[in-house]
Amino acid sequence: MHELGLCSSIVDAIEHRAGERSVRSVRVRVGRLHHVHPEAFDQSFAIAAQGTVAEDAAAELVLLPVRARCGSCAATWEADEIPMACPQCGGVDVELVGGDELVLESIEYRA
Ligand SMILES: [Zn+2]
Repeated sequence: MHELGLCSSIVDAIEHRAGERSVRSVRVRVGRLHHVHPEAFDQSFAIAAQGTVAEDAAAELVLLPVRARCGSCAATWEADEIPMACPQCGGVDVELVGGDELVLESIEYRA
């Protein structure tokens, strides 16, 4: 379950930013290339957060699409996986411009 490693990184980032403050909820943006399953994410986050300021915090997961750009015709498009060829011209000069994000977007603290 690779979500656990990912969630450990997120909790590290939360602890770094939150300091001593108790965390109520967080919002995390994750690109689809990380292949995160929302259910596994919830479980892994709860495990990773145990004993930290983020214990019992709610984690909102925002999945971002894979985005690609064609070097031949400059088309851009979204996909679920790494595309092999451009859907417009069939060219294989494909550059990824999104989908591998891992961003701790926001933190809400307990009053
Ligand atoms: Zn193209």
